[in-house]
Amino acid sequence: MFFVNLICIHKKCAAGIFLFFLFSFLILICQPVPLYSYCKSPFIMPLNGSITVKFRQVYRDEEKEISRRHTGIDIEGRYGQKVIAAANGMVSYIGFSPTGGRTLVIKHNKNIRTTYLNLLQIYVPVGTSVKQGEVIASIGAEDDPSSSSYHLHFGIIYDGKYIDPEDVLAIDYSSISKFIHLKYLPFDFKLYYSN
Ligand SMILES: [Zn+2]
Repeated sequence: MFFVNLICIHKKCAAGIFLFFLFSFLILICQPVPLYSYCKSPFIMPLNGSITVKFRQVYRDEEKEISRRHTGIDIEGRYGQKVIAAANGMVSYIGFSPTGGRTLVIKHNKNIRTTYLNLLQIYVPVGTSVKQGEVIASIGAEDDPSSSSYHLHFGIIYDGKYIDPEDVLAIDYSSISKFIHLKYLPFDFKLYYSN
């Protein structure tokens, strides 16, 4: 009888230990992991440098003798300086633009693409998945007429239109709500008045 009791106690112990480990494991895997916890902002500066030519700034293309409006921002840097991916995505295009030189495009989702122009070297082929901060290219070319110093021409296309990269770079996950403006329409107020 004592022996049977002992086995039962052992079984209870084993069950207890099993439950303890099961709960510990569940607590471990159920920790909420915030989305994009590894990045501070959805888009980061692709080159460490100062912005010399702004979005929509008018510049003179001396070679073609025309004035153009800038479709992105020029970020100044050193010859050979590495360019990183502004956000996670897939390399969707590599080519040569007559107005910006060697070009790389990253598709981030259905609506957003980032463009990197005036590149010296490209390190990733089309179809590569890249993470935010990953080295994709280097600068040092002189193919973008908007600035004569070594720079990266960086653009953001949203729904087929160029938008100001500085606005997008300013978005920060910790304060994203300040960029959301809820507009009330007459229809919204009808909800209150209908009761
Ligand atoms: Zn430019």
